[in-house]
Amino acid sequence: MDFISLTKALISIPSMATSEESYENIAKYLQTEIQKLGINSRPVITNPAKIENPDFYNKNLISLLTPKIPKYNVIANYGNGSFHLIMSAHFDTVTIDKYSNQKWSYPPFAGKINNGTLYGLGAADNKSGIGIALGVLDKIKGKFEGKISITLLFTGDEEIGGYGGIGYLLNNEISAADLFISLNGSFDKINIGCYGRLWIHFVSNQEICAFILSHRLELNNILKSHNIPLRFSHIETSRDDSPVLVFDALTSNFDQKLIRQVFHEFLPNITFELEILGFIKPAISSKSFYAEILAKLASTHSMKKQTIKIGAPSDLRFAINKNIPSLSFGPIQSTSNVHKPNENVKIETINSCVEIVSNFILNFVYRRV
Ligand SMILES: [Zn+2]
Repeated sequence: MDFISLTKALISIPSMATSEESYENIAKYLQTEIQKLGINSRPVITNPAKIENPDFYNKNLISLLTPKIPKYNVIANYGNGSFHLIMSAHFDTVTIDKYSNQKWSYPPFAGKINNGTLYGLGAADNKSGIGIALGVLDKIKGKFEGKISITLLFTGDEEIGGYGGIGYLLNNEISAADLFISLNGSFDKINIGCYGRLWIHFVSNQEICAFILSHRLELNNILKSHNIPLRFSHIETSRDDSPVLVFDALTSNFDQKLIRQVFHEFLPNITFELEILGFIKPAISSKSFYAEILAKLASTHSMKKQTIKIGAPSDLRFAINKNIPSLSFGPIQSTSNVHKPNENVKIETINSCVEIVSNFILNFVYRRV
């Protein structure tokens, strides 16, 4: 399979998350390409206006600008082994910034290759991730029968929160999985989705929540200075419409009462009530076997030493909420101009990613199961 041409073709099909876009064209194109590998796929059409508990869609500023129309995702399965691996990538992109002073050197949907670099909107973030996933499957299919089953999730709406994309698919189409690899990641840094998650019901008013949101860094510094292994992430809305603060926790070993102390320090003179609603433990340890192996394999292809970072970038957080061990790795480099004019991805990096992930699955995941 020529996954570079596939990536170029994906760039040529506009799929900007905040435009009047249902992703139907790109999803249909993808289904045809997946069929060429002898693999069946199906579209999963989500309706953002009807997604259960759609706090994001009701209150998030970007989503207010986004038409709430039915949107396409694509799901495909291969193999019937007991180890269930999910590979995901997203095909939606940000919108072209018409007001930027910077200009595109090549048209954003042309998929122009110059000097070993492919330019275009979504080149690195994340259409090449789809090329990589299909390149990997093409390379390894027929070699792991009976051991692994792979689910491919190609989704939209990542750029506006992922609720109608990976969030919907993981919650409605996937019962369990042993490992989730998001190919929307960095080439030199492997992210492990190993945060736990703490929900705190914060009975006060929206203004204070807006204050907390805008002083996120300050709050996180106070948490840090108290050695509380939690970082404030975002605010959700509970069923009774009161704000729920969501924290990402590095471990479950902390005294939850300390949270109250931190808030009194952070908001002196203000009365509020805190109630801890729940905690989800991290699904994967920072000393992850998988992350270490992947980093080792990637280091042989890179000038830089691969680092492993604990975090919950983007789509990974949905896998964490489902307790699925998760990693992100992909073609994004510091030169990729993600979300900017002249977004690009190096052909060599795409090829390396296919090699590394294929090797990882065949030699390590395979041996382990
Ligand atoms: Zn992005």
